[in-house]
Amino acid sequence: MRRLTEKKIVIASQNRGKLHEIAVLLRSLGIEGISAPCLGLEAPPETEDTFAGNARIKSHAAAINSGLPALSDDSGITVDALDGQPGVFTADWAETAHGRDFPMAMTKVWNLLEEVNAPSPRLAQFRCTLCLTWPDGHDEFFEGICTGSLTWPMRGNRGFGFDPIFIPDGDSETFGEMDPDRKNAMSHRAVAFAKFKSACLNA
Ligand code: IMP
Repeated sequence: MRRLTEKKIVIASQNRGKLHEIAVLLRSLGIEGISAPCLGLEAPPETEDTFAGNARIKSHAAAINSGLPALSDDSGITVDALDGQPGVFTADWAETAHGRDFPMAMTKVWNLLEEVNAPSPRLAQFRCTLCLTWPDGHDEFFEGICTGSLTWPMRGNRGFGFDPIFIPDGDSETFGEMDPDRKNAMSHRAVAFAKFKSACLNA
């Protein structure tokens, strides 16, 4: 496992919600995260069908084009009663001709659960794969899962994406209602970050 000695890295994402959460998590580790859009880096097409594959595409493009180590996050939500959908295609389920519409995507997920008469609790997991890539092409991967269930109607306008319908196990608030510091302590991203920290930063 390669150690990260640089104190400045690129966050290889174009998603504002992720950029904010990752910048906060990096700051807590004493690392400055510069967003890919700030450096004028464009999003490469995500052509793989795994979280790791797409994370690797994003961090490789950013590291090679910036000359700095780059950290990407590919993530999504898997729903048990929908055979793991939308999974790696979570963002695609929100695509419209006018940009991403997450209330529409959440409604689609809930309607499908109703159609198959899914039992309660409607179990789901947020999944995250982080990929850290250096400009020489070396990369390291870290995975995190947060287990929980889906609720309806949507609750809360904090967070982003599918946060308003996801309740983590042992809690009663959705990620959309929760204080961001609490979400950042338990989320799929937080779990992957803890692995990144212990593998690449700790002495
Ligand atoms: P991608 O990794 O950029 O392909 O997109 C992942 C998608 O998964 C996002 O657009 C969100 O819809 C969803 N997602 C990932 N992490 C979270 C989260 O922490 N909260 C809510 N939605 C998330």
